[in-house]
Amino acid sequence: MNWEDTPQEAAFRDEVRAFIRDSFPSEYRPDPEAQQSLEPEDVWGYEWPVDRVSEDQVRREGARKWAAALAERGWIAPRWPAEYGGAGLSATEEFILQEEMMRARVPTVNGIGAFLLGPTLLKHGTDEQRAEHLPRIARGEATWAQGFSEPGAGSDLASLRTRAVRDGDTYVVNGQKVWTSLGQYADWLFVLVRTDPDAEKPHRGITFLLVDATTPGVTIRPIEDIRGAAPFAEIFFEDVRVPVANRLGEENRGWYVAMTALSFERAGIGATVKYEQALSELVGYLRSEEGKGFLREDWGTSVRGEIARRYTEIRVLYNLARLTVSKQAAGEVPGYEASVNQLFSAELHQRLARTGAKAFGQYGNLWGRRDAPLNAAFTHLCLDSVAATFLGGTSEIQRNVIATRGLNLPRG
Ligand SMILES: Cc1cc2nc3c(=O)[nH]c(=O)nc-3n(C[C@H](O)[C@H](O)[C@H](O)COP(=O)(O)OP(=O)(O)OC[C@H]3O[C@@H](n4cnc5c(N)ncnc54)[C@H](O)[C@@H]3O)c2cc1C
Repeated sequence: MNWEDTPQEAAFRDEVRAFIRDSFPSEYRPDPEAQQSLEPEDVWGYEWPVDRVSEDQVRREGARKWAAALAERGWIAPRWPAEYGGAGLSATEEFILQEEMMRARVPTVNGIGAFLLGPTLLKHGTDEQRAEHLPRIARGEATWAQGFSEPGAGSDLASLRTRAVRDGDTYVVNGQKVWTSLGQYADWLFVLVRTDPDAEKPHRGITFLLVDATTPGVTIRPIEDIRGAAPFAEIFFEDVRVPVANRLGEENRGWYVAMTALSFERAGIGATVKYEQALSELVGYLRSEEGKGFLREDWGTSVRGEIARRYTEIRVLYNLARLTVSKQAAGEVPGYEASVNQLFSAELHQRLARTGAKAFGQYGNLWGRRDAPLNAAFTHLCLDSVAATFLGGTSEIQRNVIATRGLNLPRG
């Protein structure tokens, strides 16, 4: 397939490049101490949801200015209609915008609100809900986190137990969520709660609520991961009163609203560019004076072969991302294809991290950044990558989806 830009797309790409060059605030510099990850939300040294509340005033201001510059063009939520602060871009233009931002290593803004919740609100929200929330997301003024998973309800999400009981104009919510990405930085949460514990099928008793994170009774505690970073949180609800007006969709029909949210997967261009950048840094280092000795070690031949395979796989991922966006551009909603992308990307993430660490032999075990090859980046990525085959749905679940919905194989 030919993925070359049309003349209009090429012009748009130039516009994005010029915008980044002219508008990215020079004082908003990367934090050299930041934990790196291959997740597209973390652009090396930047993490916008964290930077916007940083104690470092220069970072905080920089994050705010960058959001304001993007918002002025409607580029925080590029595909939303202009009336809610978007730019009405096509799927392909949004793809180009994300690709160029990643290549320029500037952070995206408000990912969960703009790409997950926003489209769900556009589809299922009331006029009041849209008017209240969408413009604030599109201006980078309100950040959101996704409270679906619970202890005991991850892959089997429909078994969730956080309970909401109707009391007049409010729901009273009690329970716990876990692994909520960036939950400790969120102003608002979208959560699934059980409103009918006696429903014949568990997913028919679930409701989708929008919860102000500052409501009394909400406690958000960061969880440390294996690297000592805290990319997620656990959230406790104790008699939290949520107005019925904050319900998205009908009572007990929240499962279908949630499935809409999960169908708004991004095409995956962010991950592709991050993998490309990480691999090219590895290759650059192994070709440099400092790094070239590693490939002369006895593991050098096998590492060379692995690097070539990773390079090829990254090209495959790019094509999968392009295929997804071309379907979106044609008005199709990717179904099992999203699982193909997610599975291939998550497993490649882990292979790439391991290849990088393996290239350095025993030195790949060094955790301290000083004096370690490439500042121990790949050692840290190796540990971070453990989560890759869990966070957007586990590999086993993705394989189940591909087998049953993609290949129509009988269920076991
Ligand atoms: C870094 C990170 C960020 C996350 N962010 C969020 C977030 O923002 N919001 C949120 O709501 N959740 C989030 N999660 C949670 C994530 O969605 C769950 O971890 C995931 O759905 C798996 O659920 P679980 O952890 O309960 O594992 P389980 O579902 O208990 O799975 C355990 C093992 O059993 C396997 N298994 C389970 N069921 C089947 C089956 N039917 N067939 C075959 N194998 C099966 C799984 O594949 C896995 O290997 C995040 C997780 C991580 C690691």
